[in-house]
Amino acid sequence: MKKVVFFTDLAKLHEALGNFDIQSFKDKRVPVKLHMGEPKNKYFPKPDFVKHVIDELKKIKAKPFLFDTTVAYPGLRGRKSGYEKVAKLHGFTLDNVGCNVVIGNKGIPTKIEKREYQVAKQLAESTHIFAISHVKGHIAAGMGGAIKNFGMGGVTKKTKSMMHKGSRSIHKKELCTYCGVCSEVCPFDAITVSKNKWKQNIRACFGCGVCVDACEQKALWYKDADLQFVLACSAKACVKDKNVIYVNELKRIADSCDCDPSAASIICPDIGYLISDDPVAIDKASLDLINDVKKDIFIKTTTVNPMKQIKYGEEIGLGSTSYKLIKL
Ligand code: SF4
Ligand code: SF4
Repeated sequence: MKKVVFFTDLAKLHEALGNFDIQSFKDKRVPVKLHMGEPKNKYFPKPDFVKHVIDELKKIKAKPFLFDTTVAYPGLRGRKSGYEKVAKLHGFTLDNVGCNVVIGNKGIPTKIEKREYQVAKQLAESTHIFAISHVKGHIAAGMGGAIKNFGMGGVTKKTKSMMHKGSRSIHKKELCTYCGVCSEVCPFDAITVSKNKWKQNIRACFGCGVCVDACEQKALWYKDADLQFVLACSAKACVKDKNVIYVNELKRIADSCDCDPSAASIICPDIGYLISDDPVAIDKASLDLINDVKKDIFIKTTTVNPMKQIKYGEEIGLGSTSYKLIKL
């Protein structure tokens, strides 16, 4: 059966939400999962839009709070107190959005496809979750949408690191032709190739898996698993058996993630908002709408095909790529 994805503007958000099980959110403490932006990033979801969502949840007497987790890389958002400061700096205050901000750093283990993911306690302990995902390019995943919002953003630092380290590349010398393609595509300059010599600077390697995809000789493979596969699994760990409504914001579609302070250019004009209860369907619809306007823009910008995470999501039962788009 095709999953329904509504395509609308903010004025019709209320009408769109009425098509889902929003009434069951009544009286529940609801984490509203979103990325509140790295310092100096310009494109993260804005407080006035977020307030709109919070107002809708309050109308049905839910008890929402904004929620995100600490990150695994250095910087203010690596600590709860630092991320709280960033949230305030970016306008996510009780006065501006009408609810509190909670930053999580503790996890509850959940096993998906034989790997353990530490799901943020606040998500694991909730029965109802609301997701706001700003759709944009991503250096390692091609695109960041609903799957990425939970897959990386819904888990602890330990799990984030585990996923990145596991998607570092392993070199199979016997298959290598020393063509140098992996070195050219590595976004972190972690590979050097010279005549019959392949070298990886493990400290510089971010575990994005871009080089693995680029090697036509199959001389590179993942240390553990494709980042896009574990992202889909981790997202499933976060939302499995929960009542979740997803809003994808297709605005300020930038070349890079909201965690990138130097995300520089808008690569696709604004499109609108999508609403669904299926993270795979909403990400597939987002990608299709963006491709309609700017064909393959994420692949061209990042060299990574974001369809991988969407297909993996369907394969592991996170959701469906088959959807019906309803314009309101
Ligand atoms: S792309 Fe593959 S074959 Fe070419 S240098 Fe890198 S590992 Fe070797
Ligand atoms: S996994 Fe990513 S960062 Fe690491 S060597 Fe490959 S392309 Fe570079």
